[in-house]
Amino acid sequence: MEKRDYYEVLGVEKNASADEIKKAYRKKAIQYHPDRNPGDKEAEEKFKEAAEAYEVLSNPDKRARYDQFGHAGVSGAAGNGGPFGGFSGGMSMDDIFSMFGDIFGGHGGFGGFGGFGGGSSSQQRRYRGSDLRVKVKLTLKEISTGVEKKFKLKKYVPCPHCHGSGAEGTGGVETCPTCKGTGSVIRNQQTILGTMQTRTTCPTCGGEGHIIKNKCKECGGEGIVYGEEVVTVKIPKGVAEGMQLSMSGKGNAGKHNGVAGDLLILIEEEPDKELIRDENDLIYNLLLNFPTAALGGTVEIPTIDGRVKVKIEPGTQPGKVLRLRNKGLPSVNGYGTGDLLVNVSIYVPETLSKEEKKMLEELDASDNFKPNTSIKEKIFKKFKTLFE
Ligand SMILES: [Zn+2]
Ligand SMILES: [Zn+2]
Repeated sequence: MEKRDYYEVLGVEKNASADEIKKAYRKKAIQYHPDRNPGDKEAEEKFKEAAEAYEVLSNPDKRARYDQFGHAGVSGAAGNGGPFGGFSGGMSMDDIFSMFGDIFGGHGGFGGFGGFGGGSSSQQRRYRGSDLRVKVKLTLKEISTGVEKKFKLKKYVPCPHCHGSGAEGTGGVETCPTCKGTGSVIRNQQTILGTMQTRTTCPTCGGEGHIIKNKCKECGGEGIVYGEEVVTVKIPKGVAEGMQLSMSGKGNAGKHNGVAGDLLILIEEEPDKELIRDENDLIYNLLLNFPTAALGGTVEIPTIDGRVKVKIEPGTQPGKVLRLRNKGLPSVNGYGTGDLLVNVSIYVPETLSKEEKKMLEELDASDNFKPNTSIKEKIFKKFKTLFE
């Protein structure tokens, strides 16, 4: 399914403020909430779509990437339709509800919809693993086709002994006696305005709602151990130096079966020996020898897909640019392909034989070899454009 524009999903302008985005999402979340639309698959899809849009647009970093690269820039939420097909995408209902505390101002604000299965998890805190960063160096060829890269990542993974719980054996986990599993406690504070009640994270369990009675021997109760994972990353075609892709949930595992961080992949470009990249165009500097420039002929030009033959017209001037359509790089957004621009320059031999010298002296004497006014003007115009 084609993904809709996130701004369109929330019905806000591209330059909407964080507050406008929050308000728009709140409206959609109430409208399509599963409790209001039981059994309505379409409403559920809309509910998820809005959550995904909010998840990206409410995060300044993700929003900037989305603005620049579209859905490809925020792959974590890209699902299976886009160029990031292999990414674990989408948000679970748990993820969506865990955002609600933020949106509806605590747990009371959404009370009208109480009783939804996943709702209770929003009260407790889950640990989030940290993000992981890797760099990947790509050749122009790889960029032109897109490529799959495998990374062997050293990172925190769920402890295999306790399956991430941090507890040894069954019954190792107990409901927190301080907060009775809610993850938060109410504290009375004396202020100049009188007694105020504030809800704070439970100090005993750190907000998790449970405590570990018998700690796992392997991970010491953390639920995570340092390990290794091989991750395959699908890099879409058209990426460029400095772009960052993200794969949600492929970073470090969170403690106690928490939420894993993201894997951030920084793109680096390996400079090519012959071709220069200018956004989606490629540039090649052709050293044409003088006889071919004057007589015309055929030359070989390197492209990403190997060498191609290009015809040179008789009387080709230095500074002329030949344009090989669609021989550049594809755009990362999928809109078209750049061109290969061949800049003509003329090769002059550094040394000459006696005979060559004699021939050239004869040519030099010919008036036809002195640039006339009209050709000077033509070349000057071309030259000028280089500095505009
Ligand atoms: Zn363990
Ligand atoms: Zn507690």
